[in-house]
Amino acid sequence: MHDRIVPHRDDDLSGVSSGRDAPIEVRRSSRRKSTVSAHREGETIIVSIPAHFTRAQEQRWVSAMVDRLARKEQRKRPSDAGLRDRAALLSRQYLGGRAVPSSIRWVSNQARRWGSCTVSDGSIRISTRLRGVPPHVLDYVILHELTHLLHAGHGPSFWKILEVYPHTERARGFLEGLEYSHTVLGLDWEHADVDGPGEGADS
Ligand SMILES: [Zn+2]
Repeated sequence: MHDRIVPHRDDDLSGVSSGRDAPIEVRRSSRRKSTVSAHREGETIIVSIPAHFTRAQEQRWVSAMVDRLARKEQRKRPSDAGLRDRAALLSRQYLGGRAVPSSIRWVSNQARRWGSCTVSDGSIRISTRLRGVPPHVLDYVILHELTHLLHAGHGPSFWKILEVYPHTERARGFLEGLEYSHTVLGLDWEHADVDGPGEGADS
């Protein structure tokens, strides 16, 4: 139950950054004394504020909360540019900067693989099903694909390279759990590995 819902158009909140193209709805509640919160309902950003807030307070808090939500979402679901930065950082940190992909991007058409790498053109794809997983799991999948640029197969030397990443086992356990939960939910997965049950990177 909300006291008053005020739909917001873009020009209402000049300077609000990343939520700009998302519809914003402000809900005022007389039960709220001073707390403010923001969450998503579908595409819409819902900002809940105390009913006694002035127009100026509303504008200031809506702007701050939309920014805060956007930063949180950016941390949780990096963009393609965020993937690129992450890959460069991980390559420097764990692979001596030797693995430099020609491209790395999110894809939604990888039903059975968390990631894939085409060694011949140096391109890497990360499944959008990984959006929202803990950072160490996403980092592991990125590093796994980066390592394929140095070593195509899943042989002992491939895993030797990946040993440098301290969270490999934990991340693999998480992915197995994620795969299992998918299986329990009835998705007929035969077997899922980071880049399929096969032989590692695509040539
Ligand atoms: Zn692999």
